[in-house]
Amino acid sequence: MNIITDPRELQKQCLTWRSEGLTIGLVPTMGYFHEGHLALMDRARPLCDKLIVTLFVNPTQFGENEDLNKYPHDLDGDSAKAQSRETDLIFAPESSAMYEEDHATRVDVPELGKHLCGASRSGHFKGVCTVVTKLFMLTQPDVAVFGRKDWQQLAIIKRMVRDLNIPVQIIGHEIIRESDGLALSSRNAYLTEKERAAAPSIRKGLVKMAEMVKNGERNAEVAKAFLHNEYASTLPMGTVDYIELVDPDAIEPIEIITGSTLAAVAVRIGKARLIDNILIEV
Ligand code: AMP
Repeated sequence: MNIITDPRELQKQCLTWRSEGLTIGLVPTMGYFHEGHLALMDRARPLCDKLIVTLFVNPTQFGENEDLNKYPHDLDGDSAKAQSRETDLIFAPESSAMYEEDHATRVDVPELGKHLCGASRSGHFKGVCTVVTKLFMLTQPDVAVFGRKDWQQLAIIKRMVRDLNIPVQIIGHEIIRESDGLALSSRNAYLTEKERAAAPSIRKGLVKMAEMVKNGERNAEVAKAFLHNEYASTLPMGTVDYIELVDPDAIEPIEIITGSTLAAVAVRIGKARLIDNILIEV
């Protein structure tokens, strides 16, 4: 497995592979791998000849008071894990290699970024779309795999790829969880023992709310109020950033539940801001 840090070298390698008729699969990440990342690699592996995993903590998608400088990293550990999943190439650039000092181009899908994480993390998805577009241009992938844990990100990337005619197939992979239901996240490393013990309540509340909807509740306000109450009693150490019911493709809040609905939450526990979601089919 090759580790490349220079974007030009990466692009040269990928263009060579393409000219040889080889197909390329891409898994973009910020590193500090857990089983969720590895599941994306396993999903992509049989779909391509060459599997590329990118590892880049992209500064432009972090807000000023966010955890950019504290984000956990372990390049050696990540490399070993990626190699164990038969990755062909890791791309781990420095920020200065990805962004010229006078970098001036941004890619944005503002319509899908108005709510959920887009509302509480201003500029976040513009940073994501810009870096993912750059990664697509550098790696020329036939297929790219993203996790449904970041549902809004996945919806935005699908729309961006469609709108800009980018020739890549986007695959969304199911959320990988701990045995107690907590969605795996690199940010779970921020949790103290006590916080970690409480964190599965995020998922438990979502499942209870989904049950309520499946059993007939159609008023989104009622369902959201139920989950707020649920978290107030089961997760007193958590602060709700948002609890929202949205259309899964348009990421627009809904008032009356009539079809497939995404329930999405972000909760702060200690130093971690954790997100989770559940797709409710009615
Ligand atoms: P990150 O390194 O957190 O930016 O995540 C890189 C990719 O892994 C994104 O497409 C995430 O949606 C995905 N991912 C992160 N955690 C999980 C998880 N628990 N299950 C499935 N995919 C995940």
